[in-house]
Amino acid sequence: MSTQTFVIVGGGLAGAKAAETLREEGFDGRVVLIGEEDVAPYERPPLSKDYLRGEAGRDAIWAQEEGWYDAHDVELRVGTKVNELALSSSEVVLDGGERIGFDQLLLATGSSAKRLPIPGADLDGVRLLRTVHDSDALREALTPGVRVVIIGAGWIGCEVAASAKQRGAEVTMVAPEDVPLERVLGPEVGAIYREVHASKGVELALGVGVDAIEGSGSVTGVRTSDGSVHAADLVVVGVGAAPRLELAEAAGLKVDGGVLTDDRLRTSAPNVFAAGDIADAEHPILGDRIRVEHWGTALEQGPAAARNMLGQDLAYERIPYFFSDQYEVGMEYAGYAPAYDRVVFRGDPSTFEFLAFWMRGDRVAAGMNVNVWDVNDDIQALVRSRASVDDEALRDPDVALGGLAVA
Ligand SMILES: Cc1cc2nc3c(=O)[nH]c(=O)nc-3n(C[C@H](O)[C@H](O)[C@H](O)COP(=O)(O)OP(=O)(O)OC[C@H]3O[C@@H](n4cnc5c(N)ncnc54)[C@H](O)[C@@H]3O)c2cc1C
Repeated sequence: MSTQTFVIVGGGLAGAKAAETLREEGFDGRVVLIGEEDVAPYERPPLSKDYLRGEAGRDAIWAQEEGWYDAHDVELRVGTKVNELALSSSEVVLDGGERIGFDQLLLATGSSAKRLPIPGADLDGVRLLRTVHDSDALREALTPGVRVVIIGAGWIGCEVAASAKQRGAEVTMVAPEDVPLERVLGPEVGAIYREVHASKGVELALGVGVDAIEGSGSVTGVRTSDGSVHAADLVVVGVGAAPRLELAEAAGLKVDGGVLTDDRLRTSAPNVFAAGDIADAEHPILGDRIRVEHWGTALEQGPAAARNMLGQDLAYERIPYFFSDQYEVGMEYAGYAPAYDRVVFRGDPSTFEFLAFWMRGDRVAAGMNVNVWDVNDDIQALVRSRASVDDEALRDPDVALGGLAVA
């Protein structure tokens, strides 16, 4: 039996999946999984979707089944914050002073929701959404007829808008971009999501900044840069997330907007790995450093880091993958397209049933399937292949995507 201790800091999906892989791969030493939240690790995507709407319960969100941690002899320490990484002595220091020595350490501290630095941001009725408790409290407030202003038109803003509308709220979405999801999908596909939300009766106040949240004690409205005031009983701030880098920075790890790792998810310190939202990892196929806040990355990088903690020396080379559900419009996105030349569509976007490809030169940098299923593996293969692809072939529904990857 191994006498080694592997410590995982961060009780989110990446941390829970890393612990699972350590046991699956036969590691029989001590595994300690430390999480600041007062509940076991869970999946966050439902928090803005079916869990928020009350259509799924807590049973649907846990990262592991009840009893799993005990059954696999994983020491799960919930409600426990790690205050310091003492790398010179290979220990983590808990809030309260307890020190736990490690042979290998995984950092998976995730992100926190960004706050808005504007007047009124602390009024009652102004909400962020990151944790299961945030989602519980928001669900309770989303009663029929309640006036909700959502600040931000990214994924969280759009999904909360959809869920709020589905619960009978009056919804206004306010954001500086001209179309929803512009920063992640660009104006071409963002325009389609504008139609999705407009068709469901969401009031869209786009292309305007937010100057202040108004109210005295409780929120009454949101004042935008064009001078309008949007009446609100509830405000949801969905302006992005910030990776939690404080431990890594204080310990002197190399950090630049994320914890820098090689393609094995090794940080700049020996025996210290990073995974999930915080990891800014070299990507052997995409030829870039990649940090994304995606469920799929937490799900896959946790296990990948665990294997490398066990000395397997495997590169992490999965193509980034993301999904979202808004009303009856479901999508999957694979790839990485911070810059692109044009978008090529297959199918008619106005039917909300189509594929989109973000092109760089003659290569597919990213692709997305909207209400079309069982094609995302082919999209990932296309991105991974870096094959030269003809726009016409991408547009033509009779050309099998699978064949294009080898072109
Ligand atoms: C509402 C919502 C909806 C989402 N929907 C989607 C979606 O549809 N599709 C998608 O791809 N992605 C989605 N995401 C993003 C996805 O959930 C994240 O990318 C994923 O949760 C990242 O996992 P993680 O394990 O890296 O970090 P987290 O899930 O953030 O977990 C990190 C954990 O570490 C803990 N921690 C931090 N610091 C310390 C410390 N010092 N000591 C102890 N514990 C610490 C935190 O409290 C947290 O519990 C969504 C996120 C949210 C919030």
